[in-house]
Amino acid sequence: MTCPRCATATTREVTKTTQLGYRIFQCAACQCQFNERTGTPFNHLEFPTDIVLLVVLWRLRYKLSLRDLAEMFLERGFELPHS
Ligand SMILES: [Zn+2]
Repeated sequence: MTCPRCATATTREVTKTTQLGYRIFQCAACQCQFNERTGTPFNHLEFPTDIVLLVVLWRLRYKLSLRDLAEMFLERGFELPHS
């Protein structure tokens, strides 16, 4: 992984992960920590990236209501807002 702050390629993986299970890395040069989603549009979302993409896909492809999607993902353990 390349450091998003200083662009150094010398980073190491830290043994812990984020709450959502994403790997955490530490930069050897600037000592900052970042995860796999840092620098992506999904970084500050409270749900895993694959779940967000699945909701968007099913919403657009199958034209499901947000209420239906919230109910479907509740069965998978994700409490999505229906608005
Ligand atoms: Zn760095």
